[in-house]
Amino acid sequence: MDDHQLAEPAATPATTLAAAPATATAAPPFLPFALPDIGEEEIAAVVECLRSGWVTTGPTARRFEAAFRDYLGADVQAISVNSATAGLHLALESLGIGPGDEVIVPTLTFTATAEVVRYLGAQPVLVDVDAVTLNMDPRAVEAAITPRTRAIVPVHYAGMACDMDALLALARRHELRVVEDAAHAFPTRYRGRLVGTLESDITVFSFYANKTMTTGEGGMVVVRDPELARRIRLMRLHGISQDAFDRYVSKTPAWFYEVVAAGFKYNLTDIAAAIGIEQLKKIDRFLEQRQRLAARYDEALAGLPLVLPPRPEGDSTHAWHLYVVRLREDAALQRDELIVRLSELGIGTSVHFIPLHRQPYWRDNCVSAPERFPVAEAAFGAMLTLPLYTRMTDASQERVIHALHELLPC
Ligand SMILES: *Cc1c(COP(=O)(O)O)cnc(C)c1O
Repeated sequence: MDDHQLAEPAATPATTLAAAPATATAAPPFLPFALPDIGEEEIAAVVECLRSGWVTTGPTARRFEAAFRDYLGADVQAISVNSATAGLHLALESLGIGPGDEVIVPTLTFTATAEVVRYLGAQPVLVDVDAVTLNMDPRAVEAAITPRTRAIVPVHYAGMACDMDALLALARRHELRVVEDAAHAFPTRYRGRLVGTLESDITVFSFYANKTMTTGEGGMVVVRDPELARRIRLMRLHGISQDAFDRYVSKTPAWFYEVVAAGFKYNLTDIAAAIGIEQLKKIDRFLEQRQRLAARYDEALAGLPLVLPPRPEGDSTHAWHLYVVRLREDAALQRDELIVRLSELGIGTSVHFIPLHRQPYWRDNCVSAPERFPVAEAAFGAMLTLPLYTRMTDASQERVIHALHELLPC
């Protein structure tokens, strides 16, 4: 099934036909900006899980974790969770972040990156991004470091890795922890190495519906240090000590367990993990399709008054979770108007992201004067995310390209 069939609207009721424009053919179906790619394999795996009688976290989640670690191909542990937000919370908790601590996050991100810092009673400190990559700017990070700074959370915006060499060097120099928000970055290579296998403390991936692979809702925490892994596993499920359980299991009945902390309920179900196992098998094909669509946009949009997404250099790669363009100042339309006009043509777009410093909560609860974020401010005013998903047909993409050429004559 292609995206046209999926997006096909229901037949127009006869009563509204009179008001419709007098065209011979129906309007083309609406193109979403993102769409999950779920096949018969995922459906069969879920059915099998449902029939197995084990639907919460169990053998399938463990298989998913093992497969994910094998994909990364490094000496790390992969710990499945029910969202990347949960994973980021567990990651910072395991590092002992708490009241009085500051954690540096980019302003151009989803609110989850910063909210988890708040969960722990610590203070997110927003910083500006780099004008080319829109990733966290290492110079802005350095300028934001205070004696209270404990950690940095780089976000690999749109699927291209941050300048991790610079950020990791900064972290080493100032004894800071690094938790990568890799919600957009599976799979992404940084200088030949997959994100998730770098020198940071913890990396967190998202399997939300519009990410490069999905489990409906879900995430994966990737960590090297066995002590951090133990704490994350403990807090993932109510603070119930597996160690204590294992130690006593031979001597005591199966009902025995020990609660050693006030933990959370962040485990991934086997139903979701079953989807994840099948999605992971397809991830290289998904990536190729995303790369191909991105390359077609690059070529077809090159002459327009747009700043196209940056290309990774050398042996770094881009996951192409998002294809974000920015309108140049000489463009005939402003961003908001372009979005409306594209929507009228049946083309869905989005904006990633409204910078956190513009959000009411963060405006009141963060250092957030707009003049401190000139790059994010300018980018936000000019950016839009074009449709890109693995099931997108060439014909659908040509509709987007054609519409942009019509609306942005140069
Ligand atoms: C999607 C996203 C998250 C949250 O992921 P969930 O799995 O929905 O919790 C966090 N950070 C960024 C940058 C995201 O885009």
